[in-house]
Amino acid sequence: MIEIQELYKYYGDRRAIGPLSLEVAKGEIVGLLGLNGAGKTTTLRVLACDLLPTSGTVKVGGFDVVAAPDEVRARVGYLPDRPPLYEDMSVVEYLAFAARLRRVAAPAVTKRVSEVVEMTELGDVRGQMIGTLSHGYRQRVGIAQAIVHRPEFVVLDEPISGLDPVQIVEMRELVRSLRGDHTVIVSSHILSEISETCDRLLVIEDGRISWVGTEKQLFSELGQGMQLAVTVRGPSADRVLPLVRALAGVQEVEVVAASEPGDDVLTLQISSKSDVRDQVCRALVSADVAVIELVRRQGLESMVLKLLGGDEAAGRRKSRKKRDADQAMVDEAAQASDKQPTEGA
Ligand code: ATP
Repeated sequence: MIEIQELYKYYGDRRAIGPLSLEVAKGEIVGLLGLNGAGKTTTLRVLACDLLPTSGTVKVGGFDVVAAPDEVRARVGYLPDRPPLYEDMSVVEYLAFAARLRRVAAPAVTKRVSEVVEMTELGDVRGQMIGTLSHGYRQRVGIAQAIVHRPEFVVLDEPISGLDPVQIVEMRELVRSLRGDHTVIVSSHILSEISETCDRLLVIEDGRISWVGTEKQLFSELGQGMQLAVTVRGPSADRVLPLVRALAGVQEVEVVAASEPGDDVLTLQISSKSDVRDQVCRALVSADVAVIELVRRQGLESMVLKLLGGDEAAGRRKSRKKRDADQAMVDEAAQASDKQPTEGA
């Protein structure tokens, strides 16, 4: 469905993307994950025909974004990071407008708008002016306009950003509901926001894909050092420690400060190579030990930081910011001396 080969995108002489190669199969939901400035928005804009590549090939459904942009646009639905919504239109007026713009046949517009209003659960606000909607509802309108013409491919740039926890759950369900009918690329800088929704995760760093895999692979490749805290009630440390130490994959077990008060409460910190939560629970419960809490201490986010090189990544981000600031000064100086700053390709 999507083929990207050796894509580069420069803004002036600043490389934002490249080299970047990628394939996405029909029906897949892929998460594009990266820190701020990694190149997510730029990649998605190129895929949505909103920005021309500097070099390389980008094809959507077999059509090239440079040679056949109209064919590509007809197949793509795009939610930009800042959706272009008309504040003084009602939700249905705007969606009908978006449908006509995307060449939905006139007699089908009303029906199609009703369908996307239902899919995105906008029924309660269908007649409301967009300018009066909350951020979460605006995001839903943004997705509704992206799918109103039944595109094969849907590009969602940070659809979850700025949503509250309830809205995040609803948005995940909405993105998941696109599975099957659509191929989806969704970006985020927060792994936990998209990991459950996506079939595959792509980590983008400094304009390049640095890691591809499933959430499960992320655990098995980076799960070394994964830590669990298990709190049990009743047994002595002497009884419970050997049970856990005997499990395959467990590297280290120690008694730490109990996570809650009580003379008979014991918390164990377990370091393991892989995800051993199931095995730990099963072993303790079969030995009649009351497990009252099991918490993963090392979260997905810290794994991704590890993937991105942890502090090194933060350092790279800083130097990138500095480079951007330096470039801005150069551009300003060029403007001041009436020189044209270099245009993006
Ligand atoms: P964020 O999560 O902060 O939105 P991102 O991963 O989407 O970041 P991009 O917006 O694609 O990253 O930016 C990639 C790089 O390109 C950054 O260094 C950014 O400053 C630069 N950049 C993006 N848009 C432009 C532009 N219009 N002109 C010049 N540089 C740009």
